[in-house]
Amino acid sequence: MRYDDSPPPPESAASVSPDPPWYARRSTLAVAVAALAPTALAGWVLTQVLTGSGPGGQPPQPKALPASHTAGAGAGDAKSSTTTPSPAASASASASAPAAPAAPAKGPLAGRTVVIDPGHNTGNFKHTSEIDRQVDIGTNRKECDTTGTTTNSGYMEAEFTLDVSRRTRTLLESKGAKVVFTHDADRPWGPCIDERARIGNEANADAVVSVHADGVSAGNRGFHIILPATVKGGAADTSKIVGPSRDLGERIAGNFARSTGSAPANYLGSGTGLVVRDDLGGLNLSTRPKVFIECGNMRDAKDAAQLTSPQWRQKAAEGITNGIVGFLGG
Ligand code: ZN
Repeated sequence: MRYDDSPPPPESAASVSPDPPWYARRSTLAVAVAALAPTALAGWVLTQVLTGSGPGGQPPQPKALPASHTAGAGAGDAKSSTTTPSPAASASASASAPAAPAAPAKGPLAGRTVVIDPGHNTGNFKHTSEIDRQVDIGTNRKECDTTGTTTNSGYMEAEFTLDVSRRTRTLLESKGAKVVFTHDADRPWGPCIDERARIGNEANADAVVSVHADGVSAGNRGFHIILPATVKGGAADTSKIVGPSRDLGERIAGNFARSTGSAPANYLGSGTGLVVRDDLGGLNLSTRPKVFIECGNMRDAKDAAQLTSPQWRQKAAEGITNGIVGFLGG
């Protein structure tokens, strides 16, 4: 959901890109994959991209209880995806290769760092005094964090964000990226929005994505990406990240739409799936390219049916991942 109780930005604040929109762009990923086709590795990559049947594709369905995600789907059962296929199998007995103690990361994102920020925390609702504390976001002061929304049946946004984030991490790691989380169900609440931004900054992240789902009235459907506005004040200065963050956001929007089949939000962003905001500490304080994604509306029954589906969440993770890969030129 939105990260405060303020009303959504007026439609005029939702800026539309003057450049060719994301939905008019060719998929650079598809081109890149096609270029790899002759190699042994490509078949595996292609399978990952096109079928979405990676090792994490069929994890057990998390229960609706807040604590369940700690033992649920995500990173653990999909770690095997980091085991890259062995192109060397065909080039048998290459005599000279010394045994490397620890193979460096391989893949299109080798050497890249991606910070994933699972929105909210399932414990926040038990720690209201802590998360209500005001923090400095440069341009203003805001609550440290919020509880997030739920579906009508009680599936928490914070469970959703963690699950999609873990699936995304598995996919990104399989492509060689170093992935840093702002939290991983390893703390009782938070972190605060200023700390979430700081984690991305201190990791020197090449891209940062904050994962959310919205909580607005039924009938409002679809996803949107929130891009940083140009702001300057206190510790906030987004002048250097506005451009690359838009690129990141457009690529995620296009890939998310393709991967999930979801449409851009029908209630803001003028159908572009892109919204610019100047009131989010997580964006204002970032010095690295960063966007938020609102994957759908938890309060709409049709969107909720998707958000509560592990198979759909895997597609969501693939869309986010492919957008990041496109942005990083992988
Ligand atoms: Zn949220």
